[in-house]
Amino acid sequence: MRIALAEVAQETDSFSPLIADCSDFEAYGLYFGEEILERMRGVGPIGGFLEVAAEQPEPATLLPIVRAWGSAGGTITAETLDFLTERLVTGLRQSLPLDAVFLSLHGAAASAKEDDVEGHVLQAVREVVGREVPVVVAFDHHANITRRMVECADLLVGHETQPHDPPATGRKVARLLFRMLRGEIRPAVRWRKIPMITPQDQFLTSAGPMKEWFDLARQMETRRGVLDVSPYPMQPWLDVAEGGWSVIVHTDNDAALADSLAAEIADKAWSLREEFWRSERVAPAEAVRQADAAERGLVILSDTGDSVYGGAPGDSTCILKAMLEQGVSSLALVPMVDLEALSLAITAGVGAEITVDLGGKLDHVFSQPVRITGKVAAVSQGLVVDLLDRGICDLQRTALLAVGSIHIALLGHRSFAINHPVLYTHLGLDIADAKMVVVKTASNFQFFSRWRSGLIRVDSPGTTQSDLTAFDWKRIPRPTYPLDPLTDWRAN
Ligand SMILES: [Zn+2]
Repeated sequence: MRIALAEVAQETDSFSPLIADCSDFEAYGLYFGEEILERMRGVGPIGGFLEVAAEQPEPATLLPIVRAWGSAGGTITAETLDFLTERLVTGLRQSLPLDAVFLSLHGAAASAKEDDVEGHVLQAVREVVGREVPVVVAFDHHANITRRMVECADLLVGHETQPHDPPATGRKVARLLFRMLRGEIRPAVRWRKIPMITPQDQFLTSAGPMKEWFDLARQMETRRGVLDVSPYPMQPWLDVAEGGWSVIVHTDNDAALADSLAAEIADKAWSLREEFWRSERVAPAEAVRQADAAERGLVILSDTGDSVYGGAPGDSTCILKAMLEQGVSSLALVPMVDLEALSLAITAGVGAEITVDLGGKLDHVFSQPVRITGKVAAVSQGLVVDLLDRGICDLQRTALLAVGSIHIALLGHRSFAINHPVLYTHLGLDIADAKMVVVKTASNFQFFSRWRSGLIRVDSPGTTQSDLTAFDWKRIPRPTYPLDPLTDWRAN
């Protein structure tokens, strides 16, 4: 049994001023061939796949091709997509004959030459391996599913939870694939697009309408003959031709059942559409006031408009400005991507006082630089840290700038650790001393959960802001709720 493995994954923010090229993938580990097996144990969907593969009574020959994970960022350059596709296609050709292909894809990537990156990749894979070889995919559930993806893949399985559990999705796909290969099941796939988008405010699957919707998927999976039900609430900053939510249902050779369940669960999302737009966002100044007035820390200030995990630049000054204006007196932790300020701080050295126009350099539209004078409290020449199921993370050089009790961690790039306590602890701070921390994510608060006393979703502007109606949508299909008046949609 010969199974090829590959990962080509990035989440694109169409409104981000950033451009994603090979360096974005290299920053998270661009691996080829056997190196993938060494590096990806326990990491991501491939890690989950490897776990299940190792449990099989008859060991398969695994042929790892390419692992390219670029987190979230701007639109991918045409050259980068060509390079990654070429490496994948060449690797597959050299690995023939194959019994199956396992892919880890995001599903919401766009490039300068191609709106539908994953459809493009899947078509290229299908052209190499032919119609008969199973091609199975672990997707991020924030994917934008397209017709071409469904046509080119046999299984399209999304994450079951937010925060994400990528290894679990890899395991789920692997179990289904090995059952296919043993001839125990024959997946029938049916799907629906749902003409809606919603902000991230209700994206957690632990409560609210997303829980209700995902619980229905889990409940459907207990029905006889149902293999997988994957709801896809598309990440809301993707302006592409087939953009919008979707659902995919896989049954064991029962297309009629798959079709009726797909319609039912699509209708469920539509019926909850107003619930998905519920929000508890707080204006930046008020959010800082509430955090400063809290009896104890740690209050997490979610900078929803500048979510690095959603593809934003990570250099918004919006919340920092409010802190400076209010002169917060408690220890406040703020991350900032600003290579220029970082270099200045490192050159000046620990103990030096510097004045700098900070942040607002990458995103000029939603944020402007703020002039600060602060003391360089610490510098680090680099740290490579193992973030377990998120893999190895290279923080590179960092520095800590203190402006009164506000401590700003300066980064030179959008490291995954931007929302991780290690960013502050490796610069000598104790999280337990802090009253508030700004995180550049709208849902991945888990890394600070040990200290968390409160959470405030800050209604900050930016390329991942929740006010989706304010963006200049150019490519998404119309009508789409709530950009257009649309009331009488039905999945059937
Ligand atoms: Zn996601």
